Amino acid sequence: MRKNAEPVLLKERSVQGRRGYLPPVSDLPSTPGAELIPSFCRRQTPLNLPELSEMEVTRHFIHLAQRSFGVDQGFYPLGSCTMKYNPKLLEELPRLSGFQDLHPLQDESDLQGALAIIDLAEKVFATITGMDAFTLQPAAGAHGELTGLLILKAALKDRGEAHRDLILIPDSAHGTNPASAALAGFQVQKIPSSANGILDPEMLKPFLSPRVAGLMLTNPNTLGLFEENILTITQMIHGIGGQVYYDGANLNAIMGWARPGDMGFDLVHLNLHKTFATPHGGGGPGSGPLGVKVHLAPYLPVPRVVRTEEGFKWDYNAPRSIGKVKGFWGHFAVIIKALAYLLSLGYTGLKQVSTDAVLAANYLQTQLKEDYNLPYDRPCMHEFVLSGLKENPAEIRALDLAKALLDYGVHPPTIYFPLIVSEALMIEPTEAVTLELLDSFVAIMKDLAEKAKTVPETLKEAPYTTPVRRLNETEAARHPVLKW
Ligand SMILES: *Cc1c(COP(=O)(O)O)cnc(C)c1O
Repeated sequence: MRKNAEPVLLKERSVQGRRGYLPPVSDLPSTPGAELIPSFCRRQTPLNLPELSEMEVTRHFIHLAQRSFGVDQGFYPLGSCTMKYNPKLLEELPRLSGFQDLHPLQDESDLQGALAIIDLAEKVFATITGMDAFTLQPAAGAHGELTGLLILKAALKDRGEAHRDLILIPDSAHGTNPASAALAGFQVQKIPSSANGILDPEMLKPFLSPRVAGLMLTNPNTLGLFEENILTITQMIHGIGGQVYYDGANLNAIMGWARPGDMGFDLVHLNLHKTFATPHGGGGPGSGPLGVKVHLAPYLPVPRVVRTEEGFKWDYNAPRSIGKVKGFWGHFAVIIKALAYLLSLGYTGLKQVSTDAVLAANYLQTQLKEDYNLPYDRPCMHEFVLSGLKENPAEIRALDLAKALLDYGVHPPTIYFPLIVSEALMIEPTEAVTLELLDSFVAIMKDLAEKAKTVPETLKEAPYTTPVRRLNETEAARHPVLKW
């Protein structure tokens, strides 16, 4: 954070006695209320809060909000973790009083509508992924992964195969995959990708052993490439008694066209906060439902929604369940939005989402490869990865290009990931783009390629227009200044 930024610091503006709202004086007798909190629990000294008028506070926060870049401000092609389309209308749904006023501890008989939503959402997710059963408890993608791996572990123990302690993960995988495997108590074995960016069954073979518990795979992988040998790969893993886990964080590449269940996967998680209508970033609630094939269903977290003669009920009777992974019933508001999104699109609409996402990515890839290196030059799925500039006499780096994009009002793509591509620029336009936006992005990227040849020093100093310029990112991560 730049020191001595604008004079907007709350503390400095505070004036004793200034205030915004003046609530009416309580007409309740004060003593009984005070007794509710015993004195040893009460604050002994008054809080040292800034004192400001309502307008000053509003302006302060609006000013701060304008200093960061969000998906509502401009193009945001941040590959892999991209926010897809989050219709504003859907934000209204969880706020309807019928949902808003529910309490998770209410009796099931009061919650029939909510339980019906959970039941239907589980079924719709199962249908689009080709799985048999879902849990909606996990709070994020990584949490879904952990839940899946704990299920895998419990199933292995039941089968007397607890010695299987190895999870195979390709070198292009998202970092949460090895992290989740390690957290669930597995060892991780990295599998190299082939020269064409996907897994090669011949290269996988040497890693197959009786210790293998399973393989975690993203398909399309983080290079945006479809794993063409997927059926052979899932058969190979099953052949040695392993299970196959599908990282479905970005399902907008294939939904309506292909299903992980049909590819032979046994477990899959979805990121509702990427593909299904909930914004992410800033730590807001997400949701990472996990689906499994029937042989793993007994291990799903409890309770499960079941339909009985008297309506929906929570069923805790699951002796082989791994237990609960989240307080209450998961992030219900996110599930409402995802289900509404799915129902409003329907099957053909979902298919169109993937079509548009893949088309937009291929459109950009085709145009950008004129000026940028494209290490895996073949049609991509929802995203693709470039490797720096083709003509680069001044050695402009991916970081320089990312920073320069900020001056054009574009959020940078993901850079330096996946690790197997040097100077990686991972671009995902998503389905929510217009042709004009894509064309203007191409023009900007061409402009940068031109500047790299003619005025490279200007790129090395960018950005010029943002509230903060180049940060010492290591320092910012190690010693964040969270208040001042
Ligand atoms: C985002 C992402 C994850 C992790 O999801 P979180 O909700 O951030 O935990 C895992 N895998 C892939 C491929 C992703 O893009």
